[in-house]
Amino acid sequence: MSDDCLFCRIVGGTIPATFVARNEHGVAVRDLNPQAPSHLLVIPRRHVASLADASDGAELGALLLLAAEVARAEGLAETGYRVVANTGTDGGQTVPHLHLHVLGGRMMQWPPG
Ligand code: AMP
Ligand code: ZN
Repeated sequence: MSDDCLFCRIVGGTIPATFVARNEHGVAVRDLNPQAPSHLLVIPRRHVASLADASDGAELGALLLLAAEVARAEGLAETGYRVVANTGTDGGQTVPHLHLHVLGGRMMQWPPG
């Protein structure tokens, strides 16, 4: 937990967010600036800077399962959705605490921008 880290503060409850689910390893919140009708963030409780710094397979597995759970709860399982982990500068990561975006409710484009 770092006081300087936005997502550590959301996990710790000192910055408000709309929580939609949680499990042992992570929480899911609504993105403040949604890029699709459904846009959730799945955030590990532990501070891990990015996917490039991740090493705990149980933690990553639990985060992916939480992503699938919130997608189901949002009603996205039938139509489909996208799970994205922007990683580092070229990956477009702006918050240096690992997170998965869960996006759905519209057709996604490929290739991504
Ligand atoms: P990334 O650019 O992949 O690091 O994603 C960071 C995401 O965090 C962006 O989609 C932002 O809209 C989102 N975000 C930033 N601040 C907040 C906040 N206080 N609550 C919820 N989402 C946020
Ligand atoms: Zn953090």
